Amino acid sequence: MKLKLLVMATLYSFGVFAQQSNDHRVIVITTDGFRWQEVFKGLDAEIVKMKRFHHGDSLRLMETYGAKTEAESRAKLMPFLWNTVVKQGQLHGNRNVGSLVNVANPYWFSYPGYSEILTGQVDVQVNSNDFQPNPNTNFFEYLNGLSAYKGLVAAFGAWDAFDRILNEKRSGFPVVNAFDSYQSYAKTKDSELLSRMTKDSFRVFGDAEVLDVFTHFQAMDYLKNKKPKAMYISYGDTDEFAHEGAYNHYLDAAHRVDAWIAEIWNFVSTDPEYKGKTTLLITTDHGRGDVIKAEWTSHGEKVQDCHAIWYAMLGANVPALGEVKTSEQVYQKELIHMLAAAMGTSFTSERRE
Ligand SMILES: [Zn+2]
Repeated sequence: MKLKLLVMATLYSFGVFAQQSNDHRVIVITTDGFRWQEVFKGLDAEIVKMKRFHHGDSLRLMETYGAKTEAESRAKLMPFLWNTVVKQGQLHGNRNVGSLVNVANPYWFSYPGYSEILTGQVDVQVNSNDFQPNPNTNFFEYLNGLSAYKGLVAAFGAWDAFDRILNEKRSGFPVVNAFDSYQSYAKTKDSELLSRMTKDSFRVFGDAEVLDVFTHFQAMDYLKNKKPKAMYISYGDTDEFAHEGAYNHYLDAAHRVDAWIAEIWNFVSTDPEYKGKTTLLITTDHGRGDVIKAEWTSHGEKVQDCHAIWYAMLGANVPALGEVKTSEQVYQKELIHMLAAAMGTSFTSERRE
């Protein structure tokens, strides 16, 4: 009951219930473990001074992302969020002004976080990154079951766990993960080249995760050529470089993701098939430490406050609220329901063993 009330409140925050349209398009974008602190405050002036985190790169980082004010710094780090989304969409999660966005699951790491985002609920049994294929149905699976969306749903993830998180076998839409052969999912002018480059790329994070650049170029190629109506893109560099304690790469990765979101937005806001009928949800699976500065590299139940996250929405049926500065408490499990509301539909996850 409580959940129902929350969801209703969330729907009403859109002002109106959107008219259901069979032609509405959605893109969900996540960048793994990217902190609300950098989204809203820019470069962290303390972390950037610590040698074990800046790796000799502090001067460049200060020049590239540093500024006198947090507002200037965040705009240098994430120019698309702070020039475009702030004017045309919504940014939630600045805890310093009372906008609280939290994960509702008790684990504060990736599989439970992505499951919460994509199934719109918490299953406490989903408690490991090695968890089996998700028994809970997800939003994209629901869309793929509607005649207007059938065959027009796809997911691209840098991390190989998305086959399980989205239960690719059961859900019936392509989940192109890590080092999967893109050309076996789509034949386009560039798909063979993209597949070969992905396969031969340097495996910085081992076999389980590819560098974001490959995931992004595959996703863009698919978007432009296959024209999916519902798409999920998951970037992972931010989390991997944070675990390595490389603040320089972590910031550069986030800056790059911001530019890629701009590229996606530029495409969907100009292409006649997407223009005016596409909604974007941008968020993350979990936060990271901050109270003890050196814990920024880490997350999980034992790290204070990394249940704190952020999200942004932009596009069709999303009122331009800008940076939300009124007090609010939003949970990660509500986000997909907000997106569904913007499409004029509703979704309930089901358990299917
Ligand atoms: Zn992590």
